[in-house]
Amino acid sequence: MIRLLSSAVAVASKAGSEVRRICNSGQLGVVDKGIEDFQTEADRTAQRLITTSLSRKFPKCSVVGEEDLVDDEGADEKLFTDVTDLSVLEQTCPPEYSNIKEEDVTIWIDPLDGTSEFVKGFLEHVTVLIGFSYKGESIAGVVHQPFYKSSNDSEYTGRTMWGMKGLGYFGLTTLKASENKLVITTTASHGNKVINDVIESLKPDEVLRVGGAGYKVLNVIEGKAHAYVFPSAGSKRWDTCAPKTLIEEV
Ligand code: AMP
Ligand code: MG
Ligand code: MG
Repeated sequence: MIRLLSSAVAVASKAGSEVRRICNSGQLGVVDKGIEDFQTEADRTAQRLITTSLSRKFPKCSVVGEEDLVDDEGADEKLFTDVTDLSVLEQTCPPEYSNIKEEDVTIWIDPLDGTSEFVKGFLEHVTVLIGFSYKGESIAGVVHQPFYKSSNDSEYTGRTMWGMKGLGYFGLTTLKASENKLVITTTASHGNKVINDVIESLKPDEVLRVGGAGYKVLNVIEGKAHAYVFPSAGSKRWDTCAPKTLIEEV
């Protein structure tokens, strides 16, 4: 599992660079998948890069990505990247996962979470999500934010956060949300009456309507909101698998 995670952490960051490159090119190639459900060239390229890179190195894992991609003459081949994050490799795998078989692991990939906001230019809402499940439960996850810059950076450098059950979380600092007010974070683009009624019943002082499951979980982890409230169908396992273990470890 540690070897798998060390590849996924490095691959997520490479995928994030591709997302930034395509964003800078201005050629988003938007495809409409449904109501407020888009796919761009960045979603397609990031998924190809992640799936080829991980499935080539770990061929027995099941891999599920959000996007249905048509075969595009060797496009996957060109995006294969053999990278490893050495800081992850230094970690010791919790004993309950040290001997699990590759074929019992499913990798859930959301190559670009928050596409609606990406298209609208709310770039910091975007995350690349790679989650790992075993026996139907999320056991590890990588959340990469391509459009992140620290206060010292003049341009986006991106950051990668990850967690594993029983091992902890890495790449971020947690903060507790203010005790003087209640802040709820929820969807910006997939709202409905039930969601609004439930949020209203909680009498929040502030509602942060932002894109992406990954980004909303980061908002909770980093103390910008007390809770992520989304009482609705719509989010999928590729949205929840990676953020779930990260927030559980926090
Ligand atoms: P959101 O909070 O609206 O950004 O949604 C979080 C994730 O769930 C995103 O990946 C969305 O694409 C997905 N999602 C949530 N609701 C819907 C919906 N009604 N239709 C399609 N995707 C949705
Ligand atoms: Mg998503
Ligand atoms: Mg997506």
